[in-house]
Amino acid sequence: MGRQLDGTPMIDVDLRSDTLTKPTPEMRDAIAAAVVGDAAYGEDPTVQELEEYCAALFGKPAALFTATGTMSNQIAVRALTSPGDEIVLDYFHHINYFESRQTALHAGVVFHPCFPHNGVLSSHDVAQAIHGKLRDTGYCRPTLVCLENTISFYGGKVFPLTVLKDTADFAHGKGISVYVDGARLLNACVRSGLDPRCYAAPTDAVSLCFAKGLGAPFGSILAGSSEFVGRARLVRKWLGGNMHQAGIMAAAALFALRNNIGQLDVDHEHARLLYRRLSDPAMPAMSIIPPDTNIVMFDVSALGVTAAAFVAEAARHGVGLLDWTHGLVRAVAHHPITAEQIEAAASAIRTIYDQCMRWQPACTPHPLDQRTLSWQERALH
Ligand SMILES: *Cc1c(COP(=O)(O)O)cnc(C)c1O
Repeated sequence: MGRQLDGTPMIDVDLRSDTLTKPTPEMRDAIAAAVVGDAAYGEDPTVQELEEYCAALFGKPAALFTATGTMSNQIAVRALTSPGDEIVLDYFHHINYFESRQTALHAGVVFHPCFPHNGVLSSHDVAQAIHGKLRDTGYCRPTLVCLENTISFYGGKVFPLTVLKDTADFAHGKGISVYVDGARLLNACVRSGLDPRCYAAPTDAVSLCFAKGLGAPFGSILAGSSEFVGRARLVRKWLGGNMHQAGIMAAAALFALRNNIGQLDVDHEHARLLYRRLSDPAMPAMSIIPPDTNIVMFDVSALGVTAAAFVAEAARHGVGLLDWTHGLVRAVAHHPITAEQIEAAASAIRTIYDQCMRWQPACTPHPLDQRTLSWQERALH
C-alpha cells in the first residue's frame, strides 16, 4: 500500500462500475483452451455452445452472441420496431439515458420516456403513454416497451416479477412487444432466488451482459424466439457485428456463467455494507438510494458540491466513483473488491463529507474545487 504526500495510506478502490472486473487466471486458461472456428460461417463451436447454453438458461428457443450490452439493445430495438415507431420506457433506463442518439440513428424510432416510481414501469404507465397522444392512423404508434432488470439507476433494483408479467400482458394485449435490457439480470436472479426463465418468460426478447459483475472481458447475449433471433442476426451483421473466431470470447462468457454467478451475492453484500456506512446518522445531509443489488447511488447536492467535484476529491483519496447527473454519485460493488476496501472507501467518503460540512458558505470558497467539469460538461466543450 502506497502513501499520500501527507503520510496517510493510499487506498485504491475503484467503484465506478462493475465493468472494471478483469478476467481471472482461470478464465484466461478457459480462453486459451477455446476451440474456435469462423462464427460468421456458423462454424465456431464455442459460440454455438454459448448460444445454446443461454437459450436454455432463459428458456427461449434461440440466442445470439453480441459484442456489448449496447449492441444487444440496439439490435433488439431495430429487430422489434420499424422506423417511425414509438418506444415506451423509463426515462433513466440505459436505452434512453445513454443510447438515445444511436437508437435514433439505427432504428429511427422515438422514445416516450416515463417517470414511474423507482423505474418500475407498470401497465398503468404504459396505458397512460398510449392514451396520452392521438394514436389513429397517421400518428405515432408505440410498438415496443423496454424494461430494465436490474434497474441500474435505482440502486440495481430487481424488477418485481408480478409487475413484469402484468406490464407484458397488457402490452401484448395491445400488440406491443416487450424487451428487457437484462445487462444485470443474473444479479436480479441471485437477489430474488428466481430462475432466469421466470424473468424471461413474459418477454419477447431479453439480454444479459457478461462483462459486468460476471467478470468476462467481453460480450452480451440476446435471447428470444427463433424468428426474433433470425432477424437479430441480420441486424447484427448490418452493424458490423458478425464476428469470426469469437469462441475466444464465448469461452470467457461460458466460464463466467459456470463459475461466477455466486460471486454476485458477495457484491450485493458489499453494496449493503457501503450503504450502512454511508447512512450513518453522523452524515445526515447524505441522501442515498438503498441498493437492492450491487449499486449505491448517493446525492451530494446538500453538501454544496457538484457530483463532479465530489468524485474528483474521492479520486485524490484513491476511491473511484462515478459522477452521475442531478448531483448523484454512483458506487458499484464488484469482484474482487473486499469488505476492507469498502470500509476504506466509506471512510474516505466520510472525510470528504466532513470537509464539505465544515464549509462556511458566506465567508470562504468551498473546500472542493468546483471548477471540475462533469463528464456531461466536458462533452459539451
Ligand atoms: C452496462 C449496461 C448496458 C451496456 O453495456 P455495454 O456492454 O457497456 O455496452 C446496457 N444496459 C444496462 C442496464 C447496463 O447497465
